[in-house]
Amino acid sequence: MYTSQNVDDIVKTVTCKNSLDIKECMYRECKNCKESKVPKSNAIDMGKQVKWRMWKNRRIETEKKTMLTQVIREVESGTLETLDSEVNKEVERAARHIFNIRHQYKAMAFLKDNMTEQEIFIHMDFSENYNCKLQSEIQSMHFGASQRQISIHTGIAYTKEKLWPFATVSDCLLHSPAGIWGHLYPIFDCLKPSEHGQTIIHFLSDGPTTQYRNKTNMFLFSTKIFDFGFQSGTWNFLEAGHGKGAADGIGAVVKRTGDRHVLAGHDIKCAADLKNALKDSSIHVFEVTESDIMAIEIPTAANIKAVPQTMRIHQVTATNPGIVYARELSCFCNRLNVNGCSCFKPVMTVFDKDKILEKSSCDDLNCITTNQIPENTIKETLSGYLTKVIVVDEDLIGLWAVVEYDGLPYPGEILDVDENDVEVKVMHKIGQNRFFWPLIPDILWYEKKKVVTLLDGPPEKVTGRHCQVHPDVWRAIEAEMDL
Ligand SMILES: [Zn+2]
Ligand SMILES: [Zn+2]
Repeated sequence: MYTSQNVDDIVKTVTCKNSLDIKECMYRECKNCKESKVPKSNAIDMGKQVKWRMWKNRRIETEKKTMLTQVIREVESGTLETLDSEVNKEVERAARHIFNIRHQYKAMAFLKDNMTEQEIFIHMDFSENYNCKLQSEIQSMHFGASQRQISIHTGIAYTKEKLWPFATVSDCLLHSPAGIWGHLYPIFDCLKPSEHGQTIIHFLSDGPTTQYRNKTNMFLFSTKIFDFGFQSGTWNFLEAGHGKGAADGIGAVVKRTGDRHVLAGHDIKCAADLKNALKDSSIHVFEVTESDIMAIEIPTAANIKAVPQTMRIHQVTATNPGIVYARELSCFCNRLNVNGCSCFKPVMTVFDKDKILEKSSCDDLNCITTNQIPENTIKETLSGYLTKVIVVDEDLIGLWAVVEYDGLPYPGEILDVDENDVEVKVMHKIGQNRFFWPLIPDILWYEKKKVVTLLDGPPEKVTGRHCQVHPDVWRAIEAEMDL
């Protein structure tokens, strides 16, 4: 009988040579081992009924009638056969994830150990915002319920010779691509890489869609680095949820120093105060004003072509303005050659710069001017009414969908995406194909397979408060879900 509580060890039972390092095996694409399952005893009756616990996203209604969403362990029951297949599904997901974490870590360590004089490498992250603090006890009188915050972007710049920790602080709380590039400008101003002969830049960040991992940031990367005088660059993403480390440590020092400054009898009311508190620290601190950030021209997202498989990409390379090569994993084996390497099959995206920089009638940073369903991410089912999600991609953000929760369909708007799941704000049900917006927004992450269909637009209004899904689509949903 096989027993283990260690995910790495369990994954090793299904791969060739019990190795975590062979990509084909870990991606479950290897001819020899992709059918391998976690070992189980032959003596067990697989039809036996059992109970187990699984992590699930749930809506929870509190006593005060407010809605919370939580990840909780829920009891499931079924046959051992079902449990066995659930376990193997989880192992498949874990194997890919573990490989990506280890590969990205090793690739970045390789780069750091082999830096040349031509290169500069910046590992960065937004810290959690800092809450302004006054030394006196009358804080609540000044701030009331809405306490002011300061946004902190931290990082370390590495060159062959030195390691240069930095933090930029701002009263503007934007963490969007405009925020990112606004925070990066003073770093380049100060480091003056072009004067020091550095022509290649590497970035490393975590991958939240709303910040670094989106087509707007990739477009800005593919143009800004050339404006700064570089000849090429890479942007590398750590596997989701594993992007902290060095940059995070600097954020902690910034906050601790700020807190000590307050204890010593000073106020921190704004970014300039926080910068002042850090003037004797070894971290290089700069203030970024709101107008610095507003000065970054951000194209309308709808005008920018999507980079395919954005959620799976771990490296984007630019050697010419407006063109990026994206691949699933980072590689630096031939990085000093302008043609790079072809490991992990890079895919080219050419941004249409004229179209992207065209003035749009809408100046809102988050404006999405079209609400068309993206071609490459969907497929129609046979009935012709239901549109399935094939690949979860950032183009789904802002679209409408019907998702399944506890066996019932709910229409809603897609707010965010990650590799396999979509975050949806749903309407609540009041009758057969009748929905309304609950007072407390009901926002939850759903697996891709829980998306019953994408919709062409929001549900139609039937009365002042009630909406319906188009009756033809609704009939197809009922048929599919056996309602
Ligand atoms: Zn294998
Ligand atoms: Zn390579």
